[in-house]
Amino acid sequence: MSESSVKVRFAPSPTGELHLGGARTALFNWLFAKHNKGKFFLRIEDTDTLRSKEKYTKQILDSLSWLGFEWDDPIIYQSERNSQYKLYLKKLLDSNQVYRCFCSRNDLDESRNAGDYKYSGKCRNLSEQDVKEKLNQGISFTYRIFIPDGKTDYNDLVYGAITVDNNEIDDFIIVRSDGSPTYNFTAVVDDHDMSISHVIRGEDHLANTPKQIILYKSLGYDIPTFAHLPLILGPDRKRLSKRHGAPGIQYYRDQGYFPIVLINHLALLGWNLGNEEEIFSINNLIENFDLSDIHKKGAVWDKKKLQWISGQHLKNMSTDEIMNSIRSVDEEWGKGHEISFLIAIIEMLKVRAKSLNDFIVQSESFFKDPKKYNKVGLSKCWKDDSTNMIVESLLARINTIDDWRKEEIDKALKLFADQNQLAMGKITMPIRMAVLGSLSGPSVIEILALIGKKTTIHRLNKALEKLPI
Ligand code: GLU
Repeated sequence: MSESSVKVRFAPSPTGELHLGGARTALFNWLFAKHNKGKFFLRIEDTDTLRSKEKYTKQILDSLSWLGFEWDDPIIYQSERNSQYKLYLKKLLDSNQVYRCFCSRNDLDESRNAGDYKYSGKCRNLSEQDVKEKLNQGISFTYRIFIPDGKTDYNDLVYGAITVDNNEIDDFIIVRSDGSPTYNFTAVVDDHDMSISHVIRGEDHLANTPKQIILYKSLGYDIPTFAHLPLILGPDRKRLSKRHGAPGIQYYRDQGYFPIVLINHLALLGWNLGNEEEIFSINNLIENFDLSDIHKKGAVWDKKKLQWISGQHLKNMSTDEIMNSIRSVDEEWGKGHEISFLIAIIEMLKVRAKSLNDFIVQSESFFKDPKKYNKVGLSKCWKDDSTNMIVESLLARINTIDDWRKEEIDKALKLFADQNQLAMGKITMPIRMAVLGSLSGPSVIEILALIGKKTTIHRLNKALEKLPI
């Protein structure tokens, strides 16, 4: 196959927003297409009219756009392809490869309750006359495919050679009694019509693949290559679910993670270069991505890992880039302040921030006086009036610092501690509390230098008025 004939698709069902599993499938398809200079298509599998919602389609498309997985037009909507499915059903019917099954739900439930999970094949051999009579009586029916004897085998690019005895496969329904086509049928028709070369999807579809291959053969179509992606696990190595607090892509977007951070972590869910490398740019990924490097071992999604990856990417980002991204989330951020002040804030927070939200939340204390003081912190550093006495005399010393630079502030505080025989923490903790409202954050000296002498004095005075609580 020439490289440019690579055609892949991402085929979400719009019954919920885009989750990590779907986003990983989309990413691997997109990377494979990019790497091979092929095409990446989208297909919205919205035949389930009850559960499919337009708002989910919109959300999925928004999330994919935000991640940057641009797709090749047009988007295929299965709900618009009914006439096509009818055509292919007719083809199968005319060649006697499907049959009408008149078994009622009750009949089927009964045999299932009796422990027979496979369809009995009751309607397989109805005579033409039988069928006619039942149609005349208006009995509703489904269409089932005749599963031929023999074996179905294929080579999965991740799971290797797979052979299934056709005995194990039911004559499955391809069109329901209400006329709606089922997933296995529409997937095959569409993958064929879209000339899909590689079907890359979650391992939950492994069991569907032999059924789909049988359909390809029945219709006389070429069979695409399959690659199934390993299960995504939570940190406890159990199947990832909401229980692990792993929400949809929108959540990570709202939290202010950069798309590349999410993409980087998703890429590691089942793929690596076979070495220790874990931080990738988009171009790196496109250049290096190969289906042969996907392994079938379950892949672990871990929020801590996401944060670590985020930190690594932030270190490599320019302050300008971060500032623009913060402003894209919050237009008002830092408005009315000098640009040099904003740059200094970003540079200071960059070391520990993991997301744009971290920048926004943590920078608040540079712009505004603390609204309240953290109680746990107060119990450590401002239990009683004795702290007020220290802070009052410290304030007098701070007033005398003329050259408001880090080195000078540091010198003055150390001298003050020395002269009063106080541990440094006895001074820096109350200052931190007074200026930030909590005990966490960057170095207190750097903060003071940044917010300036006037603000420092103002906040210390305010804390003296309000504390201890
Ligand atoms: N709509 C199916 C899903 O969301 C697509 C499966 C496939 O890629 O064939 O799981």
